[in-house]
Amino acid sequence: MKQLERLMYLQGGDCFFCGKSIPDGEASVEHLVATANGGQKSDDNCVACCKSLNTLLGSRTIKEKLQIVLNQKGPFRCPANIGKQGSETALPPDPLDGKVALVMEDLRKRGSSRPLKPDTLRNTIAAVFGKQFTEEEINAILERLQANGCVSVQDGKITYKLPPKKKKT
Ligand SMILES: [Zn+2]
Repeated sequence: MKQLERLMYLQGGDCFFCGKSIPDGEASVEHLVATANGGQKSDDNCVACCKSLNTLLGSRTIKEKLQIVLNQKGPFRCPANIGKQGSETALPPDPLDGKVALVMEDLRKRGSSRPLKPDTLRNTIAAVFGKQFTEEEINAILERLQANGCVSVQDGKITYKLPPKKKKT
């Protein structure tokens, strides 16, 4: 039995670090104390883990490796798993984004007849959503519009800087 196969068997096919089953071709032997640093090739210095993490750890000192592992918040993930596996690791879409986009679309359509005062803009935003919104939601949208630079309020007057409509490709 090769060492990798043996370690994989001992670990139940799971990565030593992230605990997930290692996909085919991703398994690799990680020398905890790197051989470059005098580490042994025996099983007690070796674990099977995802290749991506092994590559990242390289021949760092055991201290640095521990630090990297400890730096991770929440359940440990090997680098290959970051951003893959869809919903589990991806950030949930911000529901506000869609609403802000709708408001921007409405304002764009209004051309020069956009509301000039914050209160009127509030009413406009409320109207876009059939007045289904709470004051807080409207404020949040307004804040977002100001944060992304589309709307600026100065001395109680609004100026608009709407980005041109994106062409659908
Ligand atoms: Zn892993």
